[in-house]
Amino acid sequence: MYPFSFTKASDTQDALNAGRRGGRYIAGGTTLVDLMRETVERPEALVDISALPLREVTVTERGGLRIGALVTMAETAAHPKVRTTFPVISEALELSASAQLRNMATLGGNIMQRTRCTYFRDVTAACNKREPGSGCAAREGFNRSHAILGTSDACVATHPSDVAVAFAALEARVHLLGPDGQRQVPFADFLLRPGNTPQHEQALNQGELITAVEIPALPRPLKSGYLKVRDRQSYEFALTSAAVALHIRGGVIREAKVAAGGVGTVPWKLPAVEEALIGERPSDRLWAEAAAHAGDGARPLQHNRFKVELLKRTVERQLRIVGGTK
Ligand SMILES: Cc1cc2nc3c(=O)[nH]c(=O)nc-3n(C[C@H](O)[C@H](O)[C@H](O)COP(=O)(O)OP(=O)(O)OC[C@H]3O[C@@H](n4cnc5c(N)ncnc54)[C@H](O)[C@@H]3O)c2cc1C
Repeated sequence: MYPFSFTKASDTQDALNAGRRGGRYIAGGTTLVDLMRETVERPEALVDISALPLREVTVTERGGLRIGALVTMAETAAHPKVRTTFPVISEALELSASAQLRNMATLGGNIMQRTRCTYFRDVTAACNKREPGSGCAAREGFNRSHAILGTSDACVATHPSDVAVAFAALEARVHLLGPDGQRQVPFADFLLRPGNTPQHEQALNQGELITAVEIPALPRPLKSGYLKVRDRQSYEFALTSAAVALHIRGGVIREAKVAAGGVGTVPWKLPAVEEALIGERPSDRLWAEAAAHAGDGARPLQHNRFKVELLKRTVERQLRIVGGTK
């Protein structure tokens, strides 16, 4: 470890002042402390935000949900409103990390977590995300777990969050508070694709704080769920995953929200799959035809070609689980 300062913010203004001075927010600390230990990250000043009043889950006026940034993963997953309104969120969280981690880790910290790319976490390896301009060891290295969608020459690392895939599918909004006041960013614009600047990962200004994630209301009845495919059944990140929400009325799919994880540099929304579903009647044939679009635009690397087919099968299977077998 190296020397750094640690202060605990007593209220939101206190946190924002410290953030404006360059302080780095820490919530559950389950990922930032690891990165500091490995010297992948070296913040000089930590600002503990765990005492801020951002711990509520509320139903919005329009019937959506607003989840405070400091609600833990475990509390979010278990919340009755989350479980009944958007089971896809609970399932994504319950398939994440371990029970101990979920008890500490917060929702804000989860969507801010950094990639698990082994070259990013190895300070002796070339990594444009950690050290811009140093190269990407993963491109020519062992890239079995890496991204096939949204990659650039500079970076092929996946975004590791599970619940972020559910948020991408449901078209959530991120509520931010900064020195210039409040603003909201659509989830699709919050996490950034690497392009030539993989070190910039979120649309967050200096000192801005995530206060909540809002999920818009969707027509009822809504069935939703999350499927995660990984090398072992617990305590492992996704090779592929699929978040699916369907509104079926009168035997016809009226709304379809679908996104994939484990395959993109950001959680990967699948509009071509959604379009293939809307207006159609559920059937096994439809699930297969729609899921065939899941790999559109994929650019696999040497060791992860299997992900293209695995992704299609993951999406097809989750469509069948949520939409039923016909
Ligand atoms: C062994 C292991 C396995 C894991 N497996 C999974 C998994 O399968 N799926 C999965 O999704 N995740 C997994 N994780 C990641 C885990 O979910 C994250 O560590 C956790 O969600 C981070 O939350 P935190 O509150 O501890 O964040 P912290 O470590 O406190 O912070 C993380 C980052 O978020 C920033 N931050 C935190 N809160 C805010 C805020 N309100 N506003 C602005 N910035 C903020 C911090 O500055 C920091 O950069 C795993 C982690 C470990 C260690």
